Amino acid sequence: MIDLIETGAELLVDAFRRPITYLRVSVTDRCNLRCVYCMPEAGLPWIPKPEILSYEEITAIVRAAASIGVRSIRLTGGEPLIRRDLARLVGMIAAVPGIDDVALSTNGLLLAEQAPALAAAGLHRVNVSLDTLDDARFTAIARRPGLAKTLAGIDAALAHGLTPVKLNCVLMRGTNDDELEAFAALTRERAVHVRFIEVMPVEENVALQRDAWISSDEVLARLRALGALREVPNPHGNGPARTFAYDDAPGTVGVISPLAHDYCERCNRVRLTADGRLRLCLFGDNHIDLRTPLRAGKGEHAIVEMLRASMHVKPERHHLRLGETASAMRAFSEIGG
Ligand code: SAM
Ligand code: SF4
Repeated sequence: MIDLIETGAELLVDAFRRPITYLRVSVTDRCNLRCVYCMPEAGLPWIPKPEILSYEEITAIVRAAASIGVRSIRLTGGEPLIRRDLARLVGMIAAVPGIDDVALSTNGLLLAEQAPALAAAGLHRVNVSLDTLDDARFTAIARRPGLAKTLAGIDAALAHGLTPVKLNCVLMRGTNDDELEAFAALTRERAVHVRFIEVMPVEENVALQRDAWISSDEVLARLRALGALREVPNPHGNGPARTFAYDDAPGTVGVISPLAHDYCERCNRVRLTADGRLRLCLFGDNHIDLRTPLRAGKGEHAIVEMLRASMHVKPERHHLRLGETASAMRAFSEIGG
C-alpha cells in the first residue's frame, strides 16, 4: 500500500470530518432478476450503452480516488456479473496502487461459472443476495427462477476463497420473515455472514416498503430468542452492519438499518453510477458528473480535484423517514452490498 502521509497527498475527508475510503462502483444498471423491492417487472429505461463507463474509464476514476485515500472498491449494479468479462475490470482495479480491497455484490446467478476467473484476477470477497431458501419463493421474489444457481454461486465463492462471504437478506413481513430462523441456523453450519437488511423505499415499492418493513430491533429480538448472541466485529471492515454470533458458530448474523441515522454517522463511502456520476448519498439527488471531464481528456488530476470538491456537497445525513420515498431518485442500483 502507498503511504499517503509520506507522499504528502491530502486524504479525502468530507465536511463532517468523515474520511472517505470506500467507493462503490456500479458497472451496469441492468439485471437478470427483477426483485420486487428493487426493480419493476418490465425493467427500467436502461442507460444507453455509449453512456456507460468503459473499464478504462472506471479504472482512471479508481486511480484518482486511490491517490487520495480510497482503499476499498465494491463492484455492484444492477447485476455486475452480466457485464462482459468483469474479471478483466477486477484485475485492472486490483493493480491500482493503494487499493487493498476489491469486493463484489451479486445475486449469485452467474457466480459459480465466474468465481475461478474472478478470484484469479484479484477479487477478495463477495456479498451475495439471498432472500429465501425456498425455490418457489425465490421465483416469486426475484420474478425469475434461480435459487439453485445462487446456492451454487455461494458454494463456489467459499471454495475459491472469496471470503468472508456475506449473504444479504431483505426481510419482508409476510413474505420471507418466517425464514429468519433458517438463515440463523445456516450461520451455525457454514462460514457465511447473513445480514438482514430493512427494506428501503424506492419509487416502485412504496406500498411494499410500508407494509413489509421490519425493524432491525425486532429482527435482533427474534435472533436473540434462538440462543445466546455475542456482538462481534464486522467480518472484514467496519461496514454498516451490527454483527453477532452464536456460540461456536462459524458464521455471523447482522442487521443493517439504512433508515437509522447512526448509519450516516459512520458513512465512509461515495458511489459511482454506471454512467459516471458520483453520488454522495444513497438517498439524495446530489451528484457530480465525472464522465464529461474524463471524456474531454481532462486527466486524472482534474478528477482528483472534482472528488475533493464533492466533499463539500456530501450531506451529513439522509432525511428519509419510514414510509417516504426518495423523491426522483432510484436508490436500487446503489444500495446495500
Ligand atoms: N444485483 C446485485 C445484488 O442483488 O446483490 C447487486 C446490486 S443490488 C441493488 C445490492 C443490494 O441492494 C442487494 O443486496 C439487494 O438486496 C439490496 N436492495 C435492493 N433494493 C433494496 C431495497 N429497496 N431495500 C433494501 N435493500 C435493497
Ligand atoms: Fe437485480 Fe440485485 Fe436489484 Fe435483485 S436486488 S433486481 S438482483 S439489482
